[in-house]
Amino acid sequence: MSTKNLTHSSHIQLANSINKDHIARSLEHLAKISDPAFGTTGVTRLAYSDTDIKGKNYIAELMTQAGLEVKVSPIGNTIGRLKGSKCDEFAVISGSHTDSVINGGHFDGIVGVICAIEALRVLQQVKDDLIHPIEVIDFAMEESARFGLSLLGSKAFMGEVSGENSLLLQDNQGVSVAEALKNVETLKYFKNENNKSFDSSIKRALWAVEESKADVKKIRAYVELHVEQAGFLEEAKIPIGIVDGAAMPTRWAIQIIGEQAHSGTTPMECRKNALVAASEFVLLVDKICKDEASHDTVGAITKMAVEPNAMNVVPGKCSMFLDLRSADKESKDRVKNILLKKLDEICSKYGVTHSRKVISEDGPKTFSSDIMAISQKACENLGLKYMVMPSRAGHDACTVSNHIKEVGMIFVPSKGGVSHHHEEWTDIDDIVLGTKILLLTLLELATTK
Ligand SMILES: [Zn+2]
Repeated sequence: MSTKNLTHSSHIQLANSINKDHIARSLEHLAKISDPAFGTTGVTRLAYSDTDIKGKNYIAELMTQAGLEVKVSPIGNTIGRLKGSKCDEFAVISGSHTDSVINGGHFDGIVGVICAIEALRVLQQVKDDLIHPIEVIDFAMEESARFGLSLLGSKAFMGEVSGENSLLLQDNQGVSVAEALKNVETLKYFKNENNKSFDSSIKRALWAVEESKADVKKIRAYVELHVEQAGFLEEAKIPIGIVDGAAMPTRWAIQIIGEQAHSGTTPMECRKNALVAASEFVLLVDKICKDEASHDTVGAITKMAVEPNAMNVVPGKCSMFLDLRSADKESKDRVKNILLKKLDEICSKYGVTHSRKVISEDGPKTFSSDIMAISQKACENLGLKYMVMPSRAGHDACTVSNHIKEVGMIFVPSKGGVSHHHEEWTDIDDIVLGTKILLLTLLELATTK
C-alpha cells in the first residue's frame, strides 16, 4: 500500500468538507431514540428491541440520504454501499454499532457508524476515482447487555457463529436471541428475497446466521472509528488515537473450597476459611497487575459469591471471576503463570482447595501497520497530533481481525474516560477530526491497489 495520494490537496479539501452540523444533528437525533421503559437517564437501545430497530431505521435513512445503496442482512447488520466505478469487489469497510447498554451514552459505537456515513456522503464526490467500493456497516448486537453475548452481528458477518447454543441464550424476560432476531424483519430495508418461511425460530435464526456471512476473500480492509472509552487521549490533550492492537479478556471462574464451620466454636487453627484464601488472591491479582502496569496489563476479581454468607458461619466456599486484559501477550502470560502458581500456594497455606474454569481466552489482537501508517500520514497532513495506543476494550474490529489482516481503528477522546454511562461525552470538534482521518484512510484504501 502506498500513501502517496494523501499529499494531494484535493484529498485534504474533501476531508475539510466533513459537515460538523450534519454529524451533530444525527447524533442528537439518534440519542432521542431510547427505550422509555428504562427512564430518561442516558440512552437504552438493547439489541433487537423495538427501540434498536427504530435506531437502525434512522441509520438506514441517513445512508439513503448520503446516496448509499442500503441492504439489511437477516442477522440485522445494516449495510450502506458506495460503489467503486472501476471495480465493485474487494470492499473497504468501516463499521461499528448503534445498540447500547442500559442507560448508556450517545457515542459508544454510534460515532463510528454516523461518521462513516458522513465520510461516505462526502466521498460521493470522487466515486469515479474509487477502485474499490466502500461500505459502512451498523453491526447488530455488539453489546452483551441484553443476552450476555456480544458481537453477534460482526461474528455472523465473519462466519464465526456456529451451532444453536448462542442463539438459545435468553434475556431477563425469557426471550431467546433466536426469537428476538425475528424483529429484524420489521426493519424498513429488510427483504426476505427468497420468501423463506420456517417452522421454528431457531431454524430461522440458523438460516439468518448463514445468510449474513460475508465472503472474507472479498474484503480489502476494515477501519473503525470509536470513542476511546478511557482517558489517555484527554489527559495528553491529543485528539486522535491510532490503535495498534486490542487487549482481549482472559476470564476465569474460580472456586475456593474450604470447610463451612461454626464461627464461635471452631478454633482458629482448625479453620479452613475459603474467604481468607480468596481475599489473599484478590489482593494478589491487584498487586501482580500493578507490577505489570508498564505493559498496560489490567486485572481484577470482578465478582464474588461467598457461601453460606451467614453471620455465624466460617465461609465454606467462594466463587469468583477474574477479568484479565492486556494487548501484550508476554505480559499477560507472565501474570497468568504467577497467578496459577500462587493460587496453589495460597490454597495449601489455608488448607483449602480450588477449581478453575476458563470462560474466555482470546489472545491480544494486532492491527495492520499499513493502515496505521495511512492514518498517521493523514494526521500529519492535517497537522494533527496523534498517539499510538492499544484498545483496552473489545470492538467489532477485533472480530474482523480474526479473519483479515488489514484492520485498523481510530480513537477520539472520551471525557474523563467515562463510557457505558449516561455521562459518556466526546466533543463534536474531536469527532469531526476523527471523521476526517477516517475519510482520508478510507479514501487511500479505496483508491490504491
Ligand atoms: Zn462500542
